[in-house]
Amino acid sequence: MYIVQIASECAPVIKAGGLGDVVYGLSRELELRGHTIEIILPKYDCMRYDHIWGLHEAYQDLSVPWYGATIQCTVYCGWVHGRLCFFIEPRSQDYFFNRGIYYGAKDDYMRFAFFSKAALEFLLRTNKRPDLIHCHDWQTGLVPVLLYEVYQWHGMENQRVCYTIHNFKHQGISGTDVLWATGLNRESYYFDYERLQDNFNPFVINFMKGGIVYSNHVTTVSPHHAWEAHHGEFGYGLGHTLHMHQHKFSGILNGIDYEVWNPEIDLYIPYHYTPAKLKGKALNKKALREKLWLRDGDKPIIAYIGRLDDQKGVHLVHHAIYYALHRDAQFVLLGSPTESAIGSWFGHEKGFLNDNPDVHLELGFNEELSHLIYAGADMIVVPSNYEPCGLTQMIGLRYGTVPVVRGVGGLVNTVFDRDYDEQYLPEKRNGYVFHQTDNSALESAMDRAIGLWYHYPDEFQKLVVQGMSYDYSWNYPGKDYLELYEHLRHK
Ligand code: ADP
Repeated sequence: MYIVQIASECAPVIKAGGLGDVVYGLSRELELRGHTIEIILPKYDCMRYDHIWGLHEAYQDLSVPWYGATIQCTVYCGWVHGRLCFFIEPRSQDYFFNRGIYYGAKDDYMRFAFFSKAALEFLLRTNKRPDLIHCHDWQTGLVPVLLYEVYQWHGMENQRVCYTIHNFKHQGISGTDVLWATGLNRESYYFDYERLQDNFNPFVINFMKGGIVYSNHVTTVSPHHAWEAHHGEFGYGLGHTLHMHQHKFSGILNGIDYEVWNPEIDLYIPYHYTPAKLKGKALNKKALREKLWLRDGDKPIIAYIGRLDDQKGVHLVHHAIYYALHRDAQFVLLGSPTESAIGSWFGHEKGFLNDNPDVHLELGFNEELSHLIYAGADMIVVPSNYEPCGLTQMIGLRYGTVPVVRGVGGLVNTVFDRDYDEQYLPEKRNGYVFHQTDNSALESAMDRAIGLWYHYPDEFQKLVVQGMSYDYSWNYPGKDYLELYEHLRHK
């Protein structure tokens, strides 16, 4: 099958979070299974060029219709760890992707509407006719809309679209300007509850809603989150739209890339290890302490890795730091704040805790350091308010780092409480789960994990090994996506 992914991220060249990992990991798995994959991305000035091999101009003069005129683009081509990627660079005064950021500009909706249009124009002009277009999140929500309303009339009538939602909270909202810019000129037609009109604000259009309405199938990134988004509050206003389209909506659990996340071969960690030979893990713990100036001693290290965002339960992350210290554990945080208020809060904490030899707070994004933390820590906390899938608990499991998580979204599908799980026998359980969002819920789960580490080290070790034996690679999700693609292709 010939599959094109259109996305705003692809790890490691463009990665702000899990979306990047998924686009890369799924593509690799599909390619290993013998399919042809191409990935279309924006050419950001700030992406990691050191991860692209053989970058060259592939298409010089792509004219993308925009507001009744055109914007000229150059399309570059290169390999990101073996995956063939096309990078679109518009040559216009807007400098859409030359802002030193991936997201967070005032005109993000215009930037990604342009990207969606340009990606389809690129496929059209280069006569690329994939069996399946897979696009992701609000940034590419207009792809299926434009395909159905515009491009199918230009010879792209056989392309099917799978649309994956990684985060319902960010939906891409805009006024009529985007319609005029992209050539969707019939305002009243699109401002319709059945089409792009936002479910709550009748004066704006909603990209993600467009993605749901117009694609052939919609997935979100875990079965439990599919249920939550459809029936609960986590659809962020799109629950009714999902309900209307429930026949084409499902949850497929993300995987993690076992080439990238593998303690047996990971290039970013000094000592390799396996479930049978865990000595390397202890040495990585020592290396982590040395790198972050933590004192040596017989204490567990608890880690947090992730965006520092309301979604991730920042108040509980904050509490976990102090509670770990109170329980005689060490804490390492690697977090990228998504708002300035959260940035200054944690910046202040960092200053306050600077001289404490049992804690290290690292603010910012650091791929290399994240690997060493996964390898060197004993536990990882994921106290999210909501979590569509969550990769850090799965990576933690792979590295023998016991997850302590809140039972929400994809965490429910991946972490099974050592003491209370009802689904699995004790020898299949892999972590600790708490349910409420208050401090004491988190404390009780941390107590159980820390208690086991101190008082029953052999049992803790068993839990580590049990976690490492789970297969959260792309093996199963890859199969699921292929079955879905096949089904769509023959529809
Ligand atoms: P998100 O909601 O951000 O997509 P996920 O758990 O799905 O969360 O994916 C997070 C991915 O991003 C993981 O690969 C994690 O290791 C990585 N990550 C998150 N924050 C950082 C950071 N500050 N530095 C390095 N890697 C990070």
